[in-house]
Amino acid sequence: MSKKKPRPIPEPAPFLPGLIDAHTHLASCGARTEEEIRAIVDRAVEAGVDRICTVGDGLAEAEAALAAAQLNERVYAACAIHPTRAQELDDAAKARLTEMAAEPRCVAIGETGLDTYWIGKSETCAPLDVQEEALRWHIDLAVSSGKALMIHNREADEGLMRVLADAPQPVETILHCFSSPLDVAREALDRGYVLSFAGNVTFKRNDELREAARIAPRGQFLIETDAPYMTAEPYRGSRNEPSFVGHAAYCLAEVRGEDPKELVEALNATFDRVYGLMP
Ligand SMILES: [Zn+2]
Ligand SMILES: [Zn+2]
Repeated sequence: MSKKKPRPIPEPAPFLPGLIDAHTHLASCGARTEEEIRAIVDRAVEAGVDRICTVGDGLAEAEAALAAAQLNERVYAACAIHPTRAQELDDAAKARLTEMAAEPRCVAIGETGLDTYWIGKSETCAPLDVQEEALRWHIDLAVSSGKALMIHNREADEGLMRVLADAPQPVETILHCFSSPLDVAREALDRGYVLSFAGNVTFKRNDELREAARIAPRGQFLIETDAPYMTAEPYRGSRNEPSFVGHAAYCLAEVRGEDPKELVEALNATFDRVYGLMP
């Protein structure tokens, strides 16, 4: 018999109205058809989640994200080629992503960025120079389209902060699933970037991440699930979905010493601003 305890089945946090999930992957959560998308959005709504931004990793996934956003009024899309797949950014992909960026339901160019973690671990992971070239192309697209830039960073703090500093500046830069040390958080906040906190902000050892969430000024933080990964404590390791985003919200409210409802207000104002949804 296995000594491992079975993983608990994740549940949403207590109902909190007006929640947002700033970065998730609906298709990777198994929601591909209109019906499946509605089912996952309905479960999120039951937990208080009003709006979701779904992200595609490759061109086909970006098309699916945009289609999901066009099918469901609570869903918005971010479109790009993921850094680990940067070699897929050929001329045809560039042409199509440029069209997608002009769609009103596409609210961000992402996720793009740098990922050194998978180099050498995955045979298909794009090398760093190809990732950087793709990142710079996506930054230019964010600038020319006026959409937010949504950044993925895995073990690439230095390179990423360098490229972001010397490239043209998009209107908004979101560091999704922010997981970097506190000095990077401070520098990013100084530059006006928005830090988006996923379920890992609740992990027991992540005091430094909670400190980043504590010091982020109003208007410079978001929450997300990055589902199907990054499930919050105490459900770590289980499959994630947008209905579980409330765990990060309660965690941020606690570390910031704010009422959860007040926090939700701030999250919505930031979501509206970064994704260009101001009424
Ligand atoms: Zn990512
Ligand atoms: Zn993601």
